[in-house]
Amino acid sequence: MDDYYNTYKKVGDMFKEYGVTGDIRRIASEFPLRCLDEKCPYDGSRLVKRMPARSMSDRFLPKCPVCGHQPDLDDCPCRGCQEKRGQDRADKQAVIRTYYTNVMPRVKARYQWLPTAEKVYLAAMVCLMRWKGLTVVGDALRVLTPSEIFTRQIVNTFIDKRVLVVDPNSPVDAFKDEDFPKKYNLFGVNYRLNLEGFENHEDLFDDADWLAIRSDREACLEIWQKLVFYDCFEKVFPFIGAGIDQTDLDQAKEVVGELINQYPVEQAKTILNAAGIEVVMTFWKNDDKSDKEILEFFLNEIKKRMTGEVKMEWSRIALSGPAESTLSDVFRDEILPFDVDFEEAIPSLELLGN
Ligand SMILES: [Zn+2]
Ligand SMILES: [Zn+2]
Repeated sequence: MDDYYNTYKKVGDMFKEYGVTGDIRRIASEFPLRCLDEKCPYDGSRLVKRMPARSMSDRFLPKCPVCGHQPDLDDCPCRGCQEKRGQDRADKQAVIRTYYTNVMPRVKARYQWLPTAEKVYLAAMVCLMRWKGLTVVGDALRVLTPSEIFTRQIVNTFIDKRVLVVDPNSPVDAFKDEDFPKKYNLFGVNYRLNLEGFENHEDLFDDADWLAIRSDREACLEIWQKLVFYDCFEKVFPFIGAGIDQTDLDQAKEVVGELINQYPVEQAKTILNAAGIEVVMTFWKNDDKSDKEILEFFLNEIKKRMTGEVKMEWSRIALSGPAESTLSDVFRDEILPFDVDFEEAIPSLELLGN
Protein backbone atom coordinates (compact mmCIF):
# COMPACT_ATOMS: atom_id res chain seq x y z
CA MET A 1 0.00 0.00 0.00
CA ASP A 2 2.84 2.34 0.83
CA ASP A 3 4.37 1.67 -2.59
CA TYR A 4 1.07 2.36 -4.27
CA TYR A 5 0.41 5.72 -2.67
CA ASN A 6 3.91 7.03 -2.12
CA THR A 7 5.88 5.88 -5.16
CA TYR A 8 5.40 5.89 -8.89
CA LYS A 9 5.99 2.14 -9.20
CA LYS A 10 3.95 0.41 -11.85
CA VAL A 11 1.04 -1.50 -10.39
CA GLY A 12 1.97 -4.60 -12.39
CA ASP A 13 5.50 -4.58 -10.96
CA MET A 14 4.13 -4.24 -7.45
CA PHE A 15 1.93 -7.26 -7.99
CA LYS A 16 4.97 -9.30 -8.99
CA GLU A 17 7.08 -7.96 -6.11
CA TYR A 18 4.52 -8.93 -3.48
CA GLY A 19 3.35 -12.07 -5.27
CA VAL A 20 -0.29 -11.04 -5.40
CA THR A 21 -2.73 -11.56 -8.22
CA GLY A 22 -5.81 -9.61 -9.11
CA ASP A 23 -7.20 -6.94 -11.32
CA ILE A 24 -4.53 -4.26 -11.87
CA ARG A 25 -7.06 -1.52 -12.51
CA ARG A 26 -8.97 -2.14 -9.33
CA ILE A 27 -6.05 -2.40 -6.95
CA ALA A 28 -7.33 0.37 -4.66
CA SER A 29 -10.53 -1.51 -3.99
CA GLU A 30 -8.45 -4.45 -2.69
CA PHE A 31 -7.08 -2.35 0.15
CA PRO A 32 -8.86 -2.45 3.50
CA LEU A 33 -11.51 0.18 4.16
CA ARG A 34 -10.44 3.08 6.34
CA CYS A 35 -12.38 3.41 9.59
CA LEU A 36 -13.37 6.95 10.60
CA ASP A 37 -14.15 8.49 14.01
CA GLU A 38 -17.53 9.73 12.86
CA LYS A 39 -20.49 7.52 13.75
CA CYS A 40 -23.72 6.77 11.90
CA PRO A 41 -26.60 8.70 13.51
CA TYR A 42 -29.01 5.83 12.85
CA ASP A 43 -27.18 2.76 14.19
CA GLY A 44 -23.99 4.09 15.83
CA SER A 45 -21.62 2.18 13.52
CA ARG A 46 -18.25 3.81 12.75
CA LEU A 47 -18.29 5.17 9.22
CA VAL A 48 -15.78 3.80 6.73
CA LYS A 49 -14.15 5.15 3.63
CA ARG A 50 -12.67 3.40 0.61
CA MET A 51 -9.11 4.22 -0.38
CA PRO A 52 -9.01 6.17 -3.62
CA ALA A 53 -7.08 5.12 -6.72
CA ARG A 54 -3.63 6.75 -6.84
CA SER A 55 -4.40 8.79 -9.93
CA MET A 56 -7.60 10.20 -8.51
CA SER A 57 -8.42 12.79 -5.96
CA ASP A 58 -10.14 11.63 -2.79
CA ARG A 59 -13.56 11.02 -4.29
CA PHE A 60 -14.98 8.41 -1.93
CA LEU A 61 -17.45 9.62 0.67
CA PRO A 62 -17.70 8.30 4.23
CA LYS A 63 -20.36 5.64 4.42
CA CYS A 64 -22.00 3.53 7.12
CA PRO A 65 -21.14 -0.17 6.55
CA VAL A 66 -24.44 -1.26 8.12
CA CYS A 67 -27.19 0.93 6.64
CA GLY A 68 -25.33 2.65 3.81
CA HIS A 69 -25.86 6.17 5.23
CA GLN A 70 -23.63 8.81 3.60
CA PRO A 71 -23.62 12.02 5.68
CA ASP A 72 -22.15 14.15 2.87
CA LEU A 73 -25.01 13.44 0.47
CA ASP A 74 -28.00 15.80 0.55
CA ASP A 75 -30.19 13.14 -1.00
CA CYS A 76 -28.69 10.17 0.82
CA PRO A 77 -30.68 7.10 -0.26
CA CYS A 78 -30.34 5.21 3.06
CA ARG A 79 -33.53 4.22 4.80
CA GLY A 80 -32.98 6.44 7.82
CA CYS A 81 -32.56 9.54 5.69
CA GLN A 82 -35.56 8.65 3.51
CA GLU A 83 -37.74 8.32 6.58
CA LYS A 84 -36.38 11.56 8.00
CA ARG A 85 -37.09 13.44 4.77
CA GLY A 86 -40.58 11.96 4.67
CA GLN A 87 -41.18 13.06 8.26
CA ASP A 88 -39.82 16.57 7.55
CA ARG A 89 -42.19 16.91 4.61
CA ALA A 90 -45.14 15.69 6.64
CA ASP A 91 -44.28 18.18 9.42
CA LYS A 92 -44.02 21.01 6.92
CA GLN A 93 -47.26 19.99 5.22
CA ALA A 94 -49.01 20.10 8.59
CA VAL A 95 -47.70 23.62 9.31
CA ILE A 96 -48.82 24.77 5.85
CA ARG A 97 -52.25 23.22 6.28
CA THR A 98 -52.83 24.83 9.68
CA TYR A 99 -51.54 28.23 8.61
CA TYR A 100 -53.55 28.50 5.39
CA THR A 101 -56.68 27.08 6.97
CA ASN A 102 -56.45 29.77 9.66
CA VAL A 103 -55.95 32.63 7.22
CA MET A 104 -58.78 31.41 4.98
CA PRO A 105 -61.15 34.39 4.75
CA ARG A 106 -64.55 33.93 6.38
CA VAL A 107 -66.16 36.26 3.91
CA LYS A 108 -66.29 35.51 0.21
CA ALA A 109 -65.53 38.05 -2.49
CA ARG A 110 -68.45 39.28 -4.58
CA TYR A 111 -68.29 38.57 -8.29
CA GLN A 112 -70.58 41.53 -9.05
CA TRP A 113 -68.06 43.95 -7.58
CA LEU A 114 -65.24 42.97 -9.88
CA PRO A 115 -64.39 45.35 -12.74
CA THR A 116 -65.14 44.07 -16.26
CA ALA A 117 -61.53 43.17 -17.10
CA GLU A 118 -61.25 41.01 -13.98
CA LYS A 119 -64.44 39.16 -14.88
CA VAL A 120 -62.83 38.26 -18.18
CA TYR A 121 -59.57 37.19 -16.49
CA LEU A 122 -61.64 35.04 -14.17
CA ALA A 123 -63.52 33.44 -17.06
CA ALA A 124 -60.16 32.59 -18.65
CA MET A 125 -58.90 31.23 -15.34
CA VAL A 126 -61.81 28.88 -14.79
CA CYS A 127 -61.03 27.28 -18.15
CA LEU A 128 -57.88 26.03 -16.41
CA MET A 129 -59.84 24.33 -13.65
CA ARG A 130 -60.01 20.85 -15.03
CA TRP A 131 -62.04 19.02 -12.47
CA LYS A 132 -65.21 19.77 -10.61
CA GLY A 133 -64.79 22.27 -7.86
CA LEU A 134 -63.03 25.54 -7.35
CA THR A 135 -59.34 24.67 -7.18
CA VAL A 136 -56.78 25.62 -9.78
CA VAL A 137 -53.25 24.21 -9.93
CA GLY A 138 -50.77 27.09 -9.85
CA ASP A 139 -48.64 25.60 -12.59
CA ALA A 140 -51.64 25.55 -14.97
CA LEU A 141 -51.88 29.34 -14.66
CA ARG A 142 -48.72 29.71 -16.73
CA VAL A 143 -50.80 29.53 -19.90
CA LEU A 144 -53.36 32.09 -18.70
CA THR A 145 -51.81 34.91 -20.76
CA PRO A 146 -49.02 35.08 -23.35
CA SER A 147 -46.60 36.43 -20.76
CA GLU A 148 -45.55 35.57 -17.23
CA ILE A 149 -45.47 39.28 -16.31
CA PHE A 150 -49.12 39.72 -17.29
CA THR A 151 -50.15 36.50 -15.58
CA ARG A 152 -48.38 37.50 -12.36
CA GLN A 153 -50.23 40.83 -12.37
CA ILE A 154 -53.58 39.07 -12.64
CA VAL A 155 -52.82 36.41 -10.03
CA ASN A 156 -51.49 39.00 -7.58
CA THR A 157 -54.58 41.18 -8.05
CA PHE A 158 -56.85 38.23 -7.30
CA ILE A 159 -54.78 37.29 -4.25
CA ASP A 160 -54.97 40.88 -2.95
CA LYS A 161 -58.72 40.91 -3.43
CA ARG A 162 -59.00 37.47 -1.84
CA VAL A 163 -60.70 36.12 -4.94
CA LEU A 164 -57.94 33.52 -4.96
CA VAL A 165 -56.74 31.98 -1.72
CA VAL A 166 -53.88 29.54 -1.27
CA ASP A 167 -55.15 25.98 -0.96
CA PRO A 168 -54.02 24.59 2.44
CA ASN A 169 -53.15 21.32 0.67
CA SER A 170 -50.66 22.95 -1.70
CA PRO A 171 -47.45 20.99 -2.33
CA VAL A 172 -44.63 21.51 0.21
CA ASP A 173 -42.08 22.28 -2.51
CA ALA A 174 -43.92 25.48 -3.42
CA PHE A 175 -43.00 27.09 -0.10
CA LYS A 176 -39.75 28.89 0.55
CA ASP A 177 -37.63 28.18 3.62
CA GLU A 178 -37.33 31.87 4.29
CA ASP A 179 -40.26 33.12 6.40
CA PHE A 180 -41.90 29.68 6.19
CA PRO A 181 -44.77 29.14 5.42
CA LYS A 182 -45.68 32.68 4.36
CA LYS A 183 -43.56 32.92 1.22
CA TYR A 184 -44.33 30.73 -1.75
CA ASN A 185 -43.79 30.38 -5.44
CA LEU A 186 -46.77 31.93 -7.25
CA PHE A 187 -47.01 29.08 -9.75
CA GLY A 188 -46.12 26.33 -7.26
CA VAL A 189 -49.10 26.48 -4.93
CA ASN A 190 -52.71 25.67 -5.75
CA TYR A 191 -55.52 28.17 -5.33
CA ARG A 192 -59.14 28.06 -4.33
CA LEU A 193 -61.68 30.40 -5.79
CA ASN A 194 -63.27 32.37 -2.98
CA LEU A 195 -66.37 33.81 -4.61
CA GLU A 196 -69.83 34.05 -3.17
CA GLY A 197 -72.51 32.01 -4.86
CA PHE A 198 -70.30 29.66 -6.87
CA GLU A 199 -69.97 26.00 -6.07
CA ASN A 200 -68.58 24.98 -9.41
CA HIS A 201 -66.31 26.76 -11.88
CA GLU A 202 -68.49 25.86 -14.86
CA ASP A 203 -71.30 28.03 -13.47
CA LEU A 204 -68.91 30.91 -13.32
CA PHE A 205 -68.12 30.74 -17.02
CA ASP A 206 -71.68 29.99 -18.12
CA ASP A 207 -73.25 32.64 -15.92
CA ALA A 208 -70.85 35.38 -17.02
CA ASP A 209 -72.85 38.19 -18.57
CA TRP A 210 -70.98 38.38 -21.86
CA LEU A 211 -73.37 40.96 -23.23
CA ALA A 212 -72.60 43.35 -20.40
CA ILE A 213 -68.89 42.59 -20.64
CA ARG A 214 -68.85 43.33 -24.40
CA SER A 215 -70.71 46.59 -23.87
CA ASP A 216 -67.86 47.85 -21.67
CA ARG A 217 -65.76 48.57 -24.74
CA GLU A 218 -63.03 50.55 -22.96
CA ALA A 219 -62.34 47.63 -20.66
CA CYS A 220 -62.34 45.21 -23.59
CA LEU A 221 -59.92 47.41 -25.52
CA GLU A 222 -57.60 47.47 -22.53
CA ILE A 223 -57.56 43.66 -22.36
CA TRP A 224 -56.92 43.45 -26.09
CA GLN A 225 -54.04 45.93 -25.92
CA LYS A 226 -52.49 44.17 -22.96
CA LEU A 227 -52.71 40.80 -24.69
CA VAL A 228 -50.96 42.18 -27.73
CA PHE A 229 -48.44 44.23 -25.76
CA TYR A 230 -47.27 41.41 -23.51
CA ASP A 231 -47.21 38.93 -26.37
CA CYS A 232 -44.79 41.28 -28.15
CA PHE A 233 -42.86 42.23 -25.03
CA GLU A 234 -41.92 38.59 -24.55
CA LYS A 235 -39.66 39.02 -27.60
CA VAL A 236 -37.88 41.96 -25.97
CA PHE A 237 -37.25 40.05 -22.78
CA PRO A 238 -34.13 38.20 -23.97
CA PHE A 239 -32.48 41.61 -24.46
CA ILE A 240 -33.22 42.87 -20.96
CA GLY A 241 -29.90 42.09 -19.31
CA ALA A 242 -28.84 42.74 -15.72
CA GLY A 243 -27.40 46.12 -16.68
CA ILE A 244 -30.74 47.51 -17.79
CA ASP A 245 -32.32 50.18 -15.58
CA GLN A 246 -35.88 51.47 -15.32
CA THR A 247 -35.30 54.22 -17.90
CA ASP A 248 -34.12 51.68 -20.48
CA LEU A 249 -37.04 49.45 -19.65
CA ASP A 250 -39.53 52.29 -20.05
CA GLN A 251 -37.95 53.11 -23.38
CA ALA A 252 -38.34 49.52 -24.54
CA LYS A 253 -41.98 49.54 -23.46
CA GLU A 254 -42.56 52.76 -25.35
CA VAL A 255 -41.12 51.34 -28.57
CA VAL A 256 -43.25 48.20 -28.27
CA GLY A 257 -46.27 50.41 -27.54
CA GLU A 258 -45.65 52.36 -30.76
CA LEU A 259 -45.12 49.16 -32.68
CA ILE A 260 -48.47 47.64 -31.67
CA ASN A 261 -50.27 50.88 -32.48
CA GLN A 262 -48.99 50.69 -36.03
CA TYR A 263 -48.92 46.99 -36.81
CA PRO A 264 -51.21 44.02 -36.24
CA VAL A 265 -49.78 41.63 -33.66
CA GLU A 266 -48.64 39.07 -36.21
CA GLN A 267 -46.54 41.63 -38.09
CA ALA A 268 -45.33 43.34 -34.91
CA LYS A 269 -43.94 40.04 -33.67
CA THR A 270 -42.30 39.39 -37.02
CA ILE A 271 -40.57 42.79 -36.87
CA LEU A 272 -39.36 41.98 -33.35
CA ASN A 273 -38.01 38.64 -34.57
CA ALA A 274 -36.19 40.32 -37.47
CA ALA A 275 -34.67 42.96 -35.16
CA GLY A 276 -33.67 40.24 -32.71
CA ILE A 277 -31.92 38.27 -35.41
CA GLU A 278 -30.04 41.43 -36.42
CA VAL A 279 -28.78 41.83 -32.84
CA VAL A 280 -27.58 38.24 -32.69
CA MET A 281 -25.87 38.46 -36.10
CA THR A 282 -24.10 41.68 -35.12
CA PHE A 283 -23.00 40.79 -31.62
CA TRP A 284 -22.64 37.02 -31.57
CA LYS A 285 -18.84 37.13 -31.58
CA ASN A 286 -18.61 40.33 -29.65
CA ASP A 287 -19.04 40.14 -25.91
CA ASP A 288 -17.59 43.50 -24.93
CA LYS A 289 -20.90 45.26 -25.56
CA SER A 290 -22.86 46.35 -22.52
CA ASP A 291 -26.47 45.35 -21.89
CA LYS A 292 -27.48 48.97 -22.51
CA GLU A 293 -25.77 49.08 -25.90
CA ILE A 294 -27.35 45.83 -26.98
CA LEU A 295 -30.87 46.92 -26.00
CA GLU A 296 -30.37 50.29 -27.67
CA PHE A 297 -29.24 48.58 -30.86
CA PHE A 298 -32.26 46.26 -30.74
CA LEU A 299 -34.75 49.11 -30.25
CA ASN A 300 -33.10 51.00 -33.08
CA GLU A 301 -33.45 48.00 -35.38
CA ILE A 302 -37.17 47.91 -34.55
CA LYS A 303 -37.52 51.61 -35.34
CA LYS A 304 -35.67 51.21 -38.64
CA ARG A 305 -38.28 48.66 -39.68
CA MET A 306 -41.14 50.86 -38.53
CA THR A 307 -39.93 53.86 -40.50
CA GLY A 308 -39.18 51.77 -43.57
CA GLU A 309 -35.45 52.46 -43.43
CA VAL A 310 -35.09 48.68 -43.43
CA LYS A 311 -37.76 47.20 -45.63
CA MET A 312 -39.74 44.22 -44.38
CA GLU A 313 -40.48 41.81 -47.20
CA TRP A 314 -43.58 40.31 -45.70
CA SER A 315 -44.19 37.88 -48.56
CA ARG A 316 -40.80 36.28 -47.97
CA ILE A 317 -40.96 35.78 -44.22
CA ALA A 318 -42.86 33.30 -42.17
CA LEU A 319 -45.10 35.33 -39.90
CA SER A 320 -45.07 34.69 -36.18
CA GLY A 321 -47.85 32.42 -35.05
CA PRO A 322 -50.42 33.22 -32.37
CA ALA A 323 -49.46 32.90 -28.71
CA GLU A 324 -50.97 30.07 -26.72
CA SER A 325 -53.04 31.56 -23.95
CA THR A 326 -56.41 30.91 -22.43
CA LEU A 327 -57.14 34.61 -22.13
CA SER A 328 -56.48 35.14 -25.87
CA ASP A 329 -58.86 32.27 -26.65
CA VAL A 330 -61.61 33.64 -24.41
CA PHE A 331 -61.12 37.13 -25.79
CA ARG A 332 -61.31 35.90 -29.38
CA ASP A 333 -64.31 33.63 -28.81
CA GLU A 334 -66.43 35.72 -26.48
CA ILE A 335 -65.54 39.37 -27.03
CA LEU A 336 -64.00 40.06 -30.43
CA PRO A 337 -66.61 40.37 -33.21
CA PHE A 338 -66.46 37.27 -35.41
CA ASP A 339 -65.37 39.21 -38.51
CA VAL A 340 -62.29 40.68 -36.83
CA ASP A 341 -59.09 38.63 -37.07
CA PHE A 342 -57.11 38.88 -33.84
CA GLU A 343 -53.76 38.35 -35.56
CA GLU A 344 -54.36 40.79 -38.38
CA ALA A 345 -56.11 43.64 -36.60
CA ILE A 346 -54.75 46.59 -34.65
CA PRO A 347 -56.72 46.95 -31.40
CA SER A 348 -59.28 49.78 -31.54
CA LEU A 349 -62.65 50.71 -30.09
CA GLU A 350 -64.17 50.81 -33.58
CA LEU A 351 -63.32 47.18 -34.25
CA LEU A 352 -64.97 46.15 -31.00
CA GLY A 353 -68.34 47.23 -32.45
CA ASN A 354 -71.18 48.83 -30.62
ZN1 LIG B 1 -25.94 3.39 9.59
ZN1 LIG C 1 -28.55 8.50 5.07
